[in-house]
Amino acid sequence: MCFYPQVLQLLYRIRICILPALVIIALSWPGSNRIHAAILDETIRVAIVKSASEVTVAGDAILVTNEGGAPLVMPLPVTVKPLKDGLLVEGKRYQRLSFSASSAVYVNNKPYRGLAELSVADKGILVVNQLPLEEYLVGLINCEISSAWPIEAVKAQAIIARTYAVNKKNARITAPYHMESSVIDQVYEGCLIEDSRSRRAVLETTGEVLTFNGDIIQAFYHSSCGGRTEDSENIWGASLPYLKGVECQYCLTAPASTLWEYKLSLKDLEERLHLGGHNVSGLYDIRPGILNSRGRLKYVSLLATKGSCTITGEQFRKAVGYGVIKSTRFTMKNSKGDISFSGSGNGHGVGLCQWGAKQRALDGFTSGEILSYYYPGTVLKKLSDIR
Ligand SMILES: [Zn+2]
Repeated sequence: MCFYPQVLQLLYRIRICILPALVIIALSWPGSNRIHAAILDETIRVAIVKSASEVTVAGDAILVTNEGGAPLVMPLPVTVKPLKDGLLVEGKRYQRLSFSASSAVYVNNKPYRGLAELSVADKGILVVNQLPLEEYLVGLINCEISSAWPIEAVKAQAIIARTYAVNKKNARITAPYHMESSVIDQVYEGCLIEDSRSRRAVLETTGEVLTFNGDIIQAFYHSSCGGRTEDSENIWGASLPYLKGVECQYCLTAPASTLWEYKLSLKDLEERLHLGGHNVSGLYDIRPGILNSRGRLKYVSLLATKGSCTITGEQFRKAVGYGVIKSTRFTMKNSKGDISFSGSGNGHGVGLCQWGAKQRALDGFTSGEILSYYYPGTVLKKLSDIR
């Protein structure tokens, strides 16, 4: 194309004028601001300490309030002890204490954003960290994966962690807290290991959740599936259309994180099974049962002089240890009283495979494409468009 220089100059000037104007209009548009504010106002309550016999709280410029919301003069750090029906701090009793800071509150030397609320529950101190959902996600990313992974995989993690959290919050809305901070829900260690890439992934997906037929899904996920993800009904008995197993060769490109081996003596196995509530004595062999539709062990038979029985693969994993039997996709060999296990995958196998997602991102797929592969039929939506 050919333009006179004057025309080109004019177009350039118009572009300079129009672009900032469009940005200003977008930012000052009352509707979009309200939506953004609503997303940032969304909070989550996470149990970070449970049944503790002592908790220390520290930090700078901390506001301390009692159960009635009245501010207290309480020089930090403090050590809080549980009483039968309250908390004890330097000879004074309280029902509940809240510590909040603009930067971070240190609970047992770990920093947390938002506020830390202490109360007595289950014969010890319960500490609940209440903070904006988006801040929770920034802290969570490096507990679940590495933020150094390709950014589309990190963004996929941010979206499923947000989806999982909001789903749990809705289900436990009247409970003292919405989430555990362990593998029971999502691993969360406060803000110590947040970084610029985890913040970028959360910012670039602000408020995005996965939905199916307009509802926020139960976004289960796991470390690695070992070749095929699992149907939800094989683990929890309930069939969900978006938690159907898919093929996943992608995690197999990271064998160190997907393949595993472990050797245990029958004596050690018997002890672990006992502790896990299975009363076998004189264990002399174990045998694999049938495989389920996704190639995972459905049952394991325990052969013993007393108490022989068959338990499910998941019960076996739970009793022997999730860190030992990393998935139910394994074979076993008895060699003179030592059982050698060889397996692939880490976790229950339902939903997104984190190591598979990493490879999909390396292959050039976007976070949206990665998620629609592992959660078939789902649609990404903004939280503000659902409520
Ligand atoms: Zn996989």
